Amino acid sequence: MEFQHITTKTGLDLVQAGGLTDAHAVHCFTTRAGGVSTGHLASLNLGPSRGDDPENVRENFRRICAALGTDPAGLVLSHQVHRDNVRVCTAADAGKGYDRVRDYDADGLVTDVPGLTLTIFSADCIPILFYDPVRRCVGACHGGWRGTAMDIAGKTVRTMQAVYGTAPGDLRCAIGPGICPKCFETDEDVPQAMEAALGSGAMRCVTALGGGRFQVDLKGIHRHCLEKAGVSPDKIVISDDCTACRPELYWSHRIVGERRGVQCALIALRP
Ligand SMILES: [Zn+2]
Repeated sequence: MEFQHITTKTGLDLVQAGGLTDAHAVHCFTTRAGGVSTGHLASLNLGPSRGDDPENVRENFRRICAALGTDPAGLVLSHQVHRDNVRVCTAADAGKGYDRVRDYDADGLVTDVPGLTLTIFSADCIPILFYDPVRRCVGACHGGWRGTAMDIAGKTVRTMQAVYGTAPGDLRCAIGPGICPKCFETDEDVPQAMEAALGSGAMRCVTALGGGRFQVDLKGIHRHCLEKAGVSPDKIVISDDCTACRPELYWSHRIVGERRGVQCALIALRP
């Protein structure tokens, strides 16, 4: 089983990938289940800017941290702008975006500081988590189509390489729940951007439907980018779950639009 759903005693339904949790690291991908938010945000909304009661969002994060065995004070939240900024997080970033002001834009986060829980948001976009068990560092990034075309996944690998001495072949990578090709139909601007930025190899993940319409496999393109960055194919796992095919389980922007919550992917070195 590459991915499994785990139900906690507080009712969280968390998705975990094989190989990314061990004696030194913890991680999960969240779903809609097990939180305290109500109405159209029921029940596990983790977005501080979705119009939710801030105390509900904090309680939702506390439940996840309890499940992971981490301290909410160590949460570090991304501030996603659909670009390729990767932030190297230090102890000074603990709590930023959660209970302290966030002073950066970042679609990717990396750290080697135990107890910092790197957190990225998604609602159809593709979340990716990274763990280097040799150099003991972790990363998280978010790839919508713009970030995907900017090679955010490869850039996260190269940042870990440059800052922590990570050998890409040591990395374990999990591409989490996100939109599937059938649900991600686009005009030609998206595949054109992919080919211009990533080369023809990325086009294996694009299917022409005729009439100027295309299906784009964002998870497959991230896999291509990770392999190009030196990650071993047998250390990349991809969740089959599509957020738009399963809107009862996941937050999906395509299906629900703006009036929705948001899920997270989180990873930490154990404190
Ligand atoms: Zn789908």
